[in-house]
Amino acid sequence: MPNLLQQRVRLTSSSSTPHDGLHSFKCLTVWLIVVMIAILLIIDAQQQLALVSAQEWNYDPCTNGPQHWSIQYPLCGNGVHQSPIDINTMVNGTVRDDTLLPLKLHWKSGFGRVFFNGETCQTSLEPNTMYMTGGPLPKLSSSSDANDEANRYYMTQFHTHEVSEHHIDGVAYPLEIHFVHKNTATGALAVVGFFFKVTTDEDSAFLNEFIDFCYSNTSTNDYLSFESLVRDSTSLPYITYDGSLTTPPCSESVTWILINSVFSVSRSQLRRFMSILPHHIANNRPIQDINQRVVRQYVPPGTETITVTWSQIYKLQVAIAILAIGFAVSSLLFISVLLHKYVIPALTHRFAAMPTVLVNEEEAPNTLNRN
Ligand SMILES: [Zn+2]
Repeated sequence: MPNLLQQRVRLTSSSSTPHDGLHSFKCLTVWLIVVMIAILLIIDAQQQLALVSAQEWNYDPCTNGPQHWSIQYPLCGNGVHQSPIDINTMVNGTVRDDTLLPLKLHWKSGFGRVFFNGETCQTSLEPNTMYMTGGPLPKLSSSSDANDEANRYYMTQFHTHEVSEHHIDGVAYPLEIHFVHKNTATGALAVVGFFFKVTTDEDSAFLNEFIDFCYSNTSTNDYLSFESLVRDSTSLPYITYDGSLTTPPCSESVTWILINSVFSVSRSQLRRFMSILPHHIANNRPIQDINQRVVRQYVPPGTETITVTWSQIYKLQVAIAILAIGFAVSSLLFISVLLHKYVIPALTHRFAAMPTVLVNEEEAPNTLNRN
């Protein structure tokens, strides 16, 4: 004799309906889809990881571009002091800091060796030749001598980004050069950025020398002069903030010093730069969040009109836009008043009078006949 449990099982089995079967099928289908999606996600993550591991990082969104850097270099994704940023020179965007010192770039000339790293043309400089002091850099020595060895940041290399990495008031420039400096004692980094825009067809002497350097791609040291680029660095306005390397590993240990003045590059020079790039993909990292960082400005004494140029241009554009909108609104109001006061009443009067004239014209012959 079947026991109670067996009877209950039989009853349960016999009481199952087609609706229950359909429900189970749906659950199974959903479960299979979830499992398949999970498997696909795992495979995709593994492929991405393998891709980044197999190849070096680059700027190509289809392979190892900036959106994939964080897979192998987490700081590129979760850092809070990342570079580049969009510099807002408007009120409250940057703080004018009168305690900042003039920048002293001791860059006369030196020997360098060109090195094409696959993404840009980079020039490595002979150690301990060109250096900078002053500006926002911390004074490490109590010595009164500004050129004290401990305070020097030596230039180690410089390279270009075709399409600037930093933006000024939302605007990118065609070219930004980064001069990378390092303090020997602390290992701290400071990068000086120069912006270039296409203004004339007159070549920049410094850039010509640099482009020739890039094309030569020699392994020997060549002489390079910086005098045509910077003559008196103490008169240069600059913007400074704490950020990171703009390439992996995105280390957050960089004092950025961006020269707040735009230099010129000719169209042909820019074309030559672009032709060096692999696949002609721009080598600039996208803009990063500024978060809680303070961006400071140094304004050289007596040069306020030069240093606030970007801000002034922006304000002028806003003023012109407001005037244009005001003019358009005033014109519409004026036309509206004209229509309502003169044109519409005149037309209304004319159309109102028309039926009377027509009746009179029709009646006119009858009147004549009667006579
Ligand atoms: Zn750079």
